[in-house]
Amino acid sequence: MTTHAPLRIGVLNGDDIGHEIVPAAHAIADAAARASGLAIDWRPMPLGRKALDELGHTMPPGTLEALGTLDGFILGPIGHQAYPKVPEAINPHPILRKSFDLFANVRPTRSYPGLGCLYDDIDLVIVRENNEGFQPDRNVVAGSGEFRPTHDTTISVRVITREGSRKVARAAFEIARSRKKRLTVVHKNTVFKLGCGMFVEECYEAGKEFPDVAIEEVIVDTFAMKLVREPQRFDVVVTTNMFGDILTDEAAGLVGGLGMAPGLCIGRGEIAMAQATHGSAPDIAGKGLANPYAMIESTRMLIEWLGRRRGIPAAAEASARMKAAIEAALADPATRTPDIRGTGTQADMTRAILSHLETRT
Ligand code: ATP
Ligand code: MG
Repeated sequence: MTTHAPLRIGVLNGDDIGHEIVPAAHAIADAAARASGLAIDWRPMPLGRKALDELGHTMPPGTLEALGTLDGFILGPIGHQAYPKVPEAINPHPILRKSFDLFANVRPTRSYPGLGCLYDDIDLVIVRENNEGFQPDRNVVAGSGEFRPTHDTTISVRVITREGSRKVARAAFEIARSRKKRLTVVHKNTVFKLGCGMFVEECYEAGKEFPDVAIEEVIVDTFAMKLVREPQRFDVVVTTNMFGDILTDEAAGLVGGLGMAPGLCIGRGEIAMAQATHGSAPDIAGKGLANPYAMIESTRMLIEWLGRRRGIPAAAEASARMKAAIEAALADPATRTPDIRGTGTQADMTRAILSHLETRT
């Protein structure tokens, strides 16, 4: 029996494979929620290329306001590089992240047997700062981006603030506290003495609120090497925006590729955004080859996170059901996609997860 106010979750397909994997994630989360007595009020919304074609804007007016009334949303990948160069075709990503102050991008990496993972015992989380660093999004943050003072010289500006660093560090410490109570700070303060220096300082400052969590530092290039050689050594990692961007793709490579890389963007407010690490993969769109795992797992993380924040036990149950059904589908090559040594299609994998949800009561 439902005893809580329904979770209001937006569903935004995005572009290309987003039109395949977001409906899959939505259907699976909905089935798990129904089986667990979790009430979800799903709110589909137009965003991206389809919204531009049908409504004249990649982010139609009123989208931000509508999203602001929700508990969270699922955002499919955005193929903004292919948008026409018109003012109506903005990239919604940075606007969404900044409008809702989604400063921490939580990206887990975990190995499952048989998928072609380079190790079978990886289980780590990289927390990537989401709103600072090198910011080419000139339409969003004044004073940052890239400049070309002369024809032959380009300057790229990297923004690091005490507040931004402290906020993402706190979010990472909280996650570390719920796991093995170890946090690795990845940086390059040997070169970026001011920027990374400030980031590291603020991580230690935040650490004072978490005396039960051990903190270590690793220089980013060393970390990139260690991540390949001994990823088991790491549990929760926090780093700045671009280092996190690169390292999370590297981590995905260890466990089967981009289709295995989920993410949840969280912030100070209540709203959270489920977003896979990968892009919209136009090369495989419409071919049934897109691995829906990252999007489904991101959605599961959103439900788990909202449930914990709101104290809704049914959300934890829905999340556990999803987890078991996903694992069961991944265990069978016939019900997983070719990128992870499967022979199935996106639809086969989705159907299998749905049927495992039905059979597990
Ligand atoms: P972005 O700039 O948005 O990060 P990108 O250029 O890194 O995008 P992606 O769209 O992430 O590119 O895709 C890179 C390649 O990875 C694609 O060409 C595709 O073959 C593969 N890929 C990405 N996501 C998936 C997925 N879910 N399932 C299978 N293959 C994928
Ligand atoms: Mg990419």
